[in-house]
Amino acid sequence: MKRTLYWLNKDLRINDNAALNLASKSEHLLCVYVVDKQCFEGNNFQSKPLGDIRWEFLQGCLDDFNESLLKLGQELYIVYGDTLSTLTRLCENYQITDVITTKLPGTYENRLITQLNERLPELTINQVDQFTLFTKNALPFELDELPVSYSKFRKKMAEVSISKPVPSVQSLPSMFDTLPAPTRFKPEWLPSVSAIKAKQGFEFEGGEEQGLKHLRQYFSSNSPAEYKQVRNNLDGWENSSKLSPWLNSGCISVRQVMNYLTDFEQQQGKNSSTECLYLELLWREYYQWVHYKVGAKTYQFKGLAKNPPLTTFYPERFNKWCLGNTPYPLVNAFMHELRQTGYLSNRGRQIVASCLVNELSVDWRYGAAWFEEQLIDYDAAVNWGNWQYIAGVGVDPRGGRHFNIEKQTKLYDPNGDYQAKWIDQSQQSTQPLDSVDASDWPVLQ
Ligand SMILES: Cc1cc2nc3c(=O)[nH]c(=O)nc-3n(C[C@H](O)[C@H](O)[C@H](O)COP(=O)(O)OP(=O)(O)OC[C@H]3O[C@@H](n4cnc5c(N)ncnc54)[C@H](O)[C@@H]3O)c2cc1C
Repeated sequence: MKRTLYWLNKDLRINDNAALNLASKSEHLLCVYVVDKQCFEGNNFQSKPLGDIRWEFLQGCLDDFNESLLKLGQELYIVYGDTLSTLTRLCENYQITDVITTKLPGTYENRLITQLNERLPELTINQVDQFTLFTKNALPFELDELPVSYSKFRKKMAEVSISKPVPSVQSLPSMFDTLPAPTRFKPEWLPSVSAIKAKQGFEFEGGEEQGLKHLRQYFSSNSPAEYKQVRNNLDGWENSSKLSPWLNSGCISVRQVMNYLTDFEQQQGKNSSTECLYLELLWREYYQWVHYKVGAKTYQFKGLAKNPPLTTFYPERFNKWCLGNTPYPLVNAFMHELRQTGYLSNRGRQIVASCLVNELSVDWRYGAAWFEEQLIDYDAAVNWGNWQYIAGVGVDPRGGRHFNIEKQTKLYDPNGDYQAKWIDQSQQSTQPLDSVDASDWPVLQ
């Protein structure tokens, strides 16, 4: 008898979920999500893997997915603890024969699968390839031969057709009789999150229902046809798709987004904006495959480069950057927006990352880890890949990006409206950047 455990991760949706479709074919099914304690503990870069804002969003995703499962005769079994020991224990206690999960490029997730397999060699583990637009088998090259630049990747992928979303499941097998009811008990190490006070004028609500609603709304407006002209603006709901939080938690799939985009182009016509939106989704795709290929190098100081960058770690500078207290008002405004809302425009992300690396000479990994904690749409491959790119240790053949902050301010915030929205000018520090040097000695003024 097939007793299946479906380990959910970044696939919290009913629609276009090939892993759930596969799970629906088993005799008994247990749907599990593990909230790992490690996510709330500090890492080597003075940040936590999961901050309050994304955690609140994630809880919305879990509640919504559970409601959908209940309608299909199932329930989401949420367990708080260590992922590997939880999965091992559940598999042993309930004589699980098959584990199904969505394949992810992350080194952490892949290591977990290997360890689970080593502990329980009898187990059949099925990793469903559905986090990306193209499956590995559809790539027109071996992963080892992944093009070293995005433009070459784009050219190669131009000939490959994109699959349609798969049909949704209509019913699911039952849980095991002997299973205790999912616990509603929350351990003391979980942060209690208060509601986000977003001054952006928009809020992201977790869950497939909200994600699909937003997807429909975006593509029933004219915004995709104007995307290219406004995508670099610093502020505003319509300036970009705002799909990233739902996309990265798996409430919607990238195939669904592409399907909407293709329909939009068929009805309204293709233009440079719709093409540009596709190219951004393809950047996301490229970073996923780079991560698959290079693995742990994604997180190393040297990245993909031959030599490490010439930066170091200045605790005081890093702290000021995180808190939005640098000598650069535009950067400060961005950092306030990020901390208060979990979201930042792409241009904002580029400028603050460039500032940390080039103006403040701080090791880029601290910035990437701070983003990991703060971002509501954090994605390992895209975040660390973009940071590497700006730090000059990634896939950029030109080697690094330095944004001129003064020029960017004149271009994108000429009247200071954005800065006024996010910073209280009276609280802006007039102190010099450093009170101590890199080895913690006081700097004499
Ligand atoms: C330093 C840095 C860190 C970043 N970290 C993340 C992250 O953790 N998660 C994340 O989703 N995006 C990240 N981005 C990329 C980008 O800023 C966001 O995807 C985008 O701002 C999300 O808003 P949107 O959905 O409205 O994007 P849109 O402009 O509407 O783009 C549509 C989609 O295309 C993809 N996309 C857009 N820009 C990029 C890009 N530069 N690289 C790869 N994919 C892209 C995203 O999936 C996005 O949802 C980062 C960029 C930088 C410079």
